[in-house]
Amino acid sequence: MKSQNDISNQLITWYNNNKQSMPWRDDKNIYHIWLSEIMLQQTQINTVIPYYTQWLKQFPTINDVASASEDDILKLWEGLGYYSRALNFHNACKTIIESYDGEIPKKDFIKLKGVGPYIDAAVRSIGYHDVTPTIDGNVNRVVSRLLCLKKPPQKEHKKIYNFLIQIINPKVPGDFNQAMMDLGRNICKPKKPSCLQCPLSTICKAYKKDSVNQYPMKIKTKKIPNINVAVGIIWKKNNILIAKRKSQGLLPGLWEFPGGKVNHHETSADCVIREIYEETGVTVELKSFITNIKHQYSHFSISLDSFHCIYKSGTPEPRQCTDIKWIKPTDIPKFAFPKANHKFMDHIPINNPWL
Ligand code: SF4
Repeated sequence: MKSQNDISNQLITWYNNNKQSMPWRDDKNIYHIWLSEIMLQQTQINTVIPYYTQWLKQFPTINDVASASEDDILKLWEGLGYYSRALNFHNACKTIIESYDGEIPKKDFIKLKGVGPYIDAAVRSIGYHDVTPTIDGNVNRVVSRLLCLKKPPQKEHKKIYNFLIQIINPKVPGDFNQAMMDLGRNICKPKKPSCLQCPLSTICKAYKKDSVNQYPMKIKTKKIPNINVAVGIIWKKNNILIAKRKSQGLLPGLWEFPGGKVNHHETSADCVIREIYEETGVTVELKSFITNIKHQYSHFSISLDSFHCIYKSGTPEPRQCTDIKWIKPTDIPKFAFPKANHKFMDHIPINNPWL
């Protein structure tokens, strides 16, 4: 059996020879490290890179983030998903300016909005060289296979942490953590891991037992529910109505076309008229069906019908949203919309087809 030092050294050597080039790698600026780790949560590296670069161009400092409007923050994040990450980061930057003289607080870092144990460990180890392991889905998979863990990683957190704390390299804890994540992402992949190229194959129990595909053990997942949704493009002259979602819950703070969930025994057409009135206080006449799109979120999927509607009466008011606006269709790109709305935007003409 190799010593813990040997395991760690083997991994670090592999990392130094194989590490992927990323704009935030070898950058010691804590703001940059923190931002990259937030963007990388639940998101692929190649998706993150252009967002990360553009963000730093627009907001070179924490102060720039804190001074930005919520709409500017969400517009820059548009398409990256999990929007509460952006709003929490915005909130945390404001706290740093207001309560910590603009300095990211090392001791109180975990108290900032959106900083959980994973982000805290990643920033501490990479930015401050604290000896603390980071544990994400990739690392869970690697350790589950190395140790042949009998339960799903969610139930083996202690064992995984204890193993990592024994082998983490105290001289370069940040490199060690990034090496484990790279290993999971590029070598110890969920399907068909490249064990022959793995620096840890000599200590991997699953590899030795030829049972790699049995690990990690899975929690039984429920079938993802599908929700039917209907929305309206409401025309008044050449303007259309958009509504801003609440700052909590799904897609917080994003703009969208009014509408909502189709009830049982209700058609999409009836739903649009009802939802628009409940959400905005406006009555509309339905003119034509636009299209149906499907979209998948992490815990459910939607089937969304969109309709052209003509404004009939009422003063729009944000009843179940936080703001409401008449805009020209050409102004749509100025606002951050959910991906599902983008899927039918090409069908919206520049001018009211019924004028
Ligand atoms: S030997 Fe294979 S299963 Fe084991 S850690 Fe390496 S890549 Fe993963």
